[in-house]
Amino acid sequence: MASDGKHTDSMLPFESIQCPYCGEPIDLFIDDSVDHQDYVEDCQVCCRPINVSVTADEDGEMRVVARAENDA
Ligand SMILES: [Zn+2]
Repeated sequence: MASDGKHTDSMLPFESIQCPYCGEPIDLFIDDSVDHQDYVEDCQVCCRPINVSVTADEDGEMRVVARAENDA
């Protein structure tokens, strides 16, 4: 395995996002066995529903986008 300084966190599939409502950081468990998923996660702080979009880019890095629910 090459160690080129790139972090390999595939064994720790957590990503931090920021709540679009209250701005608090939220740790999400990411299922990286799928390339793309959208789901709603309730904020652990303000309990409002956050639209979470998870996509894997060509490097296999997971990109997590959090949006307010009524933010089309
Ligand atoms: Zn919140």
